[in-house]
Amino acid sequence: TTANGHHDPPASKSLPPQTGTTAQAAAATRPPTTNGSTPTTSVLHANLNSPPPKIVSASGNYLTTSTGTQIFDATGGAAVSCLGHAHPRVKQAIVDQLDTVEYTYSPFFTTDASERLAERLTKSTNGEMSKVFIVSSGTEAIEAALKLARQYFVEKGEPERTRFIAREQSYHGNTLGSLSVGGHKARRKVYEPLLSENVSFVSPPYPYRGMKEGESEEEYVQRLGQELEGEFQRVGPRNVCAFVAETMSGLTLGAVPPPKNYLQTIKHICDKHGALLILDEVMSGMGRTGTLHAWSQDSVTPHLQTVAKGLGAGYQPIGALLVHRHVVDVLSHGTGSFVHSQTYQGHPVACAAACAVQKVVEEEGLMQNVRELGPVLGKALQKRLGGHANVGEVRGRGFMWGIELVQDKPSKTPFPASKKLAATIHATGLREEFGISLLPGGGVADGTNGDVVMLAPAYNITREDVELIVERTAKVVERALGA
Ligand code: PLP
Repeated sequence: TTANGHHDPPASKSLPPQTGTTAQAAAATRPPTTNGSTPTTSVLHANLNSPPPKIVSASGNYLTTSTGTQIFDATGGAAVSCLGHAHPRVKQAIVDQLDTVEYTYSPFFTTDASERLAERLTKSTNGEMSKVFIVSSGTEAIEAALKLARQYFVEKGEPERTRFIAREQSYHGNTLGSLSVGGHKARRKVYEPLLSENVSFVSPPYPYRGMKEGESEEEYVQRLGQELEGEFQRVGPRNVCAFVAETMSGLTLGAVPPPKNYLQTIKHICDKHGALLILDEVMSGMGRTGTLHAWSQDSVTPHLQTVAKGLGAGYQPIGALLVHRHVVDVLSHGTGSFVHSQTYQGHPVACAAACAVQKVVEEEGLMQNVRELGPVLGKALQKRLGGHANVGEVRGRGFMWGIELVQDKPSKTPFPASKKLAATIHATGLREEFGISLLPGGGVADGTNGDVVMLAPAYNITREDVELIVERTAKVVERALGA
């Protein structure tokens, strides 16, 4: 998985403009191979003609490229490596698991590793989420959530519930099911004829652009609630299976925390109409915002919750679907089986790695560190960059921050997509003189919001690391803006 290169369509004149992507970042630094020449790699990279830099070693917060450049990994890839690289305890847990049992097929056998991980996750919700379906990525967790929601209503005797409501400018993965509930137009465009017609979209919470002048946060949230209620009425409340939303918006809006009472408002509307709330915490969950579950900060428990990135911290590919006990009850009193399974479900080595990651997070007090240093990082970014003529907003929570860049601050006009600003910033950061990996985000290719530079450092960074991140980020942003 690249920063968000896995979101890119391949380069072609007929495809939508690629912006805010690793592919362009790579293209911005290295010329493609000469016309018609053999590509220098057999890997189908995000940019077919230009492979990204090769990483030959990774330790702590630093990545080393094949040309010897040291890069501070301020984003853990795409908000994944929350313990940094080469953590000895996680490495040891993987080796120990390989020495015990490396693989079993989950319909036939269970393992201590998967049982331990599932138990740890259910306990972290005080048993509200009572079962866990363990897969290999965030996308697969979303696919499982959509299918489980549908099966739940079939078993409940409400088969007419086939509709999903999701949010514009959202990202939930790139397979056909997950892309169907994704609201990012540029990512959908090529595949539109293959996507589900049973999905409709409402506005995401995005105060910087969504809030009207003179409107209070409370009024704004009420308005978003009315829009969602209106959509339930339009499609028929008894036809809705679930509303899908990220607890805190990641890549495509660029680190936007939910406004006060937003999550309560959407949960109330779902409950009123008997629909399920699916909260996607693939990026914002497992500690990224300062608590293991981002929803716990707003006291809203979803019916279904997806997690991935921070769950295994990149040591193994792993994602999970957490299922509320009320949903579990319906299935266990119904057919008693989920009509969905995967060969690598509950993979023991991935589960052992995730268990070790979660133990480290707990035993080293890393949530406390994120809660303490998160605001320090945010304030320092604001102080250093907030006054810049092209910085529209610095926003975030915990260790998930976004800097939205605009061409004109008063009117919030984004830079043109053709400028590829976020991608250029990413590429500039990788240069030896800067040495920092930043995550390009935002909805530029959509024409809906500005370029966003995202930061998602490891949970165990220090105050000195925060200073280094802010200083290097500011220099890269200033350079790319021509300051
Ligand atoms: N959902 C959200 C909110 C994400 O940010 C992502 C990935 O960036 C996904 C789903 C897809 O996860 P994965 O890339 O692990 O399949």
